[in-house]
Amino acid sequence: MRHDHLITSKQLSRANIETILDYAAELDADPSAVSDRHAGTVLGLLFFEPSTRTKMSFETAMKRLGGDVVDMGSVESSSVTKGETLADTVRVIEGYADALVLRHPKQGSATMASEFVDVPLVNAGDGAGHHPTQTMLDLYTIRENAGLDDLTIGIMGDLKYGRTVHSLAYALTNFDTRQHFISPESLQLPREVVYDLHQQQDGTGIREHESLEDVLPSLDVLYVTRIQRERFPDENEYQKVAGEYQIDAATLEAASDDLTVMHPLPRVDEIAPEIDETDHAAYFEQAHNGVPVRMALLDLLLSDDGDAGLTGGDGDE
Ligand code: ASP
Repeated sequence: MRHDHLITSKQLSRANIETILDYAAELDADPSAVSDRHAGTVLGLLFFEPSTRTKMSFETAMKRLGGDVVDMGSVESSSVTKGETLADTVRVIEGYADALVLRHPKQGSATMASEFVDVPLVNAGDGAGHHPTQTMLDLYTIRENAGLDDLTIGIMGDLKYGRTVHSLAYALTNFDTRQHFISPESLQLPREVVYDLHQQQDGTGIREHESLEDVLPSLDVLYVTRIQRERFPDENEYQKVAGEYQIDAATLEAASDDLTVMHPLPRVDEIAPEIDETDHAAYFEQAHNGVPVRMALLDLLLSDDGDAGLTGGDGDE
């Protein structure tokens, strides 16, 4: 039986998102209710790029559902170094696991890999493409801290290569949000993403800026991102923008007292540690939310009928 795959946030409707977030909230309140739900189930982890939070929270989520994981390990220690193709690797590991989680440096790799397997495949980041489970935990954190409707959010930093940004921006068009994108000109959102966002949401909800000052006082949430050094074709280009768009306590003096500051992590120097102890900081809570959200998603994807209903959005892939 062919199961649902989760490849981009474009495939998620508002109803899908609300189902997952509501269920995650239930599991967050009482994780023990499902501690045997997936006994005997095995999740395959295929990470071709470094990961701490995503990989460990998927592993924790599967174990809290009563299941277990098999991990391909590092690329260096796998048959990838012998020249094995991604299509062959996923076809082999689907024989060992009931669902697969894939992270890969190449954009589009998750879509391609999903065409070769019948078990559910979750995209845990494909290059500068998408990262839909990060989006789900981002939405969960936004809902808890600021609410998802009548929301004004600033998304700042590397909007060109930041896959968490691309996924989040699409998902937010399902809600009544004003999205302000703040970056240097060289790291603006890809034009096709801007075009899509305008198509999906009344254009008044999408604005681009070079300066945070312009919008900071109006924001409910500021989502800060790391400059994605590993994606720059030229180190000199990275050096030109490294260190731009950092925030510290002085920056936030112009912000509302209720501003929620988020970051998908890891941070390098984008958020000064002095912000960690303030009521603005939600980034560690955000990382912790990865467990209940991924538990909810895995439980839905592993449901017996194979239909998690994750295909309600416009961009079903
Ligand atoms: N952890 C996030 C990702 O994998 C963000 C980052 O790496 O900056 O995309």
